[in-house]
Amino acid sequence: MDDRISDDSSVFTGSFTQQEPIPEAGIEAAVRVMRHGRLHRYNTLEDEAGETALLEQEFAAATGARFCLAVASGGYALACALRALGVAPGQPVLTNGFTLAPVPGAVAAVGAVPVFVETTAGLTIDMDHLRDRIAASGARVLLLSHMRGHICEMERLMDICDKARVTVVEDCAHTMGADWNGAPSGRFGALGCYSAQTYKHINSGEGGFLVGDDPEVMARAVMLSGSYMFHDRHPAGPAAAAYQRIRFETPNMSGRMDNLRAAILRPQIADLPRRRAEWATLYRAVEEGLAGVEGLSLILRDGREGFVGSSFQFLLPGWDGERIARLVAACAVRGVVLKWFGAAEPQGYTSRHDSWRYAPAQELPRTDKVLSALLDFRLPLTFSSDDCTLIARIIASEVARHAA
Ligand SMILES: *Cc1c(COP(=O)(O)O)cnc(C)c1O
Repeated sequence: MDDRISDDSSVFTGSFTQQEPIPEAGIEAAVRVMRHGRLHRYNTLEDEAGETALLEQEFAAATGARFCLAVASGGYALACALRALGVAPGQPVLTNGFTLAPVPGAVAAVGAVPVFVETTAGLTIDMDHLRDRIAASGARVLLLSHMRGHICEMERLMDICDKARVTVVEDCAHTMGADWNGAPSGRFGALGCYSAQTYKHINSGEGGFLVGDDPEVMARAVMLSGSYMFHDRHPAGPAAAAYQRIRFETPNMSGRMDNLRAAILRPQIADLPRRRAEWATLYRAVEEGLAGVEGLSLILRDGREGFVGSSFQFLLPGWDGERIARLVAACAVRGVVLKWFGAAEPQGYTSRHDSWRYAPAQELPRTDKVLSALLDFRLPLTFSSDDCTLIARIIASEVARHAA
């Protein structure tokens, strides 16, 4: 008998929400900022760059972007990106039917109307449906969410959008440090948006970034973020000329990053390659442990996808809701906290397009089918590969028990 099935008593005791501590260098830098007291990003001495400005330069370098703006959250970065591109109230904005609440929330924040696009079995945007939705809605902007780190075929996506003159904004909350075909995630669209919230790839509690190459769009983003007339304090922003046309007509919608959080984040940017490598090890340990389990399908990853394996998804195709609910409960008893996107009511961080009722109701049968069978869990870097092997063994044994 398969030892994964016979061993049905083990319990996992780790925490799916426990991230690594802040690197010592970040703690020391944060203490220095608290000691001098200049926490506001524009509160700097004559020759002092300030932690926030340095962070922006470092993140621009890490992504290869011409410009970078650090902001208060990932959700703020998304709404700021849409505003900087001139999205107006009432306009349709395309986005993934499978994403997290801050994404349609950002569309709603600018008064625009989310138009959801279907999801493939690989958890990426359905490009045929995207084409149809572009034609039917007349939308000029796609807010593309690389939900749970799954990256679609970016050349094809950009080709569809370029031909239809649809501007792409990338939601890289789950793809910071990832790439497609060697190019960093967030560098295909006009703007890339990232989150530094605790459960993402770097952690300052809250925080976000916007990167892009267009001087006027980025100038608008800087002013929107609440720069007053301090745009000269943005060395990772565009040159002064870019602000000339827009500086009196762009509202201040404060959502700045501060020097304390920037101090915490700077060493973490440099640490991203190590994190990505460790996440790959954890991800592969789970994947190996779940390979060949009957009744369970893994999400195949494209060879061009340089993903960051900070969470794991699998499908239970054809399982009815009650059986999945029993499986989730049985795994929880053994310490493995699975999130199910098919539950009748959204729980915790999970939610579904039909629970975003400020948006017009939309028929997404393919997305609904995928989500009804989709299970998900985090892989914090405090886990070891042995932890991941155990988690996979528990899931495999419970799937075997509940499949019958
Ligand atoms: C977390 C998240 C965001 C927004 O990040 P916050 O920093 O929490 O505002 C955006 N998109 C996705 C898919 C996310 O998971």
